[in-house]
Amino acid sequence: MAKLYFRYAAMNAGKSTALLQVAHNYAERGMRVMLFTAAIDGRSGFGVISSRLGIERPASLFGPGTSFLRELLEPDLSCVLIDEAQFLTALQVRQLHRLAHEDGLPVICYGLRSDFQGEGFAGSLALLCLADDLEEMKTICACGRKASMNLRIDHKGIRVREGAQIEIGGNERYRAVCPSCFYADDAVSPDKAPGLFG
Ligand SMILES: [Zn+2]
Repeated sequence: MAKLYFRYAAMNAGKSTALLQVAHNYAERGMRVMLFTAAIDGRSGFGVISSRLGIERPASLFGPGTSFLRELLEPDLSCVLIDEAQFLTALQVRQLHRLAHEDGLPVICYGLRSDFQGEGFAGSLALLCLADDLEEMKTICACGRKASMNLRIDHKGIRVREGAQIEIGGNERYRAVCPSCFYADDAVSPDKAPGLFG
């Protein structure tokens, strides 16, 4: 039985690396997969999913208007893999759920659970609601605890607490932190977090 999977994590937990490993495993068995990433993310150029470990694969881009209906996808697919799944709309998550259950096509989504203010992304909230299989990918805060949240940091290394959920083309960076550090005022002091997740 095909399922909709959601693999969620904070920043830099290796989501893209894990996705590319799954794509490789399918390809090695001669099975076709289709990869998608958000058009909004220019981090690795358009239409590429890349891992910080140095591997990459071409990917189709999705935006809010993309439909994930079976007839719009490539034929003979064994799996659909979606990176940056937090940027899906609730309707798209519904389409992906139906792809799994009506068309028998497994869909594996990778994405952030919450934004820099601790609020849910639309895609993640829908996936947490509908995904048949949820798994948290673990990463570590600079203090050693498990990181489950994200801080936004400006180009001077100062924490940003206000702003749009998605910044396009800005100089901000993100750091995965544990909840204790998320709520601590000095969480992004360079002395306390020496660039581990910069
Ligand atoms: Zn911490």
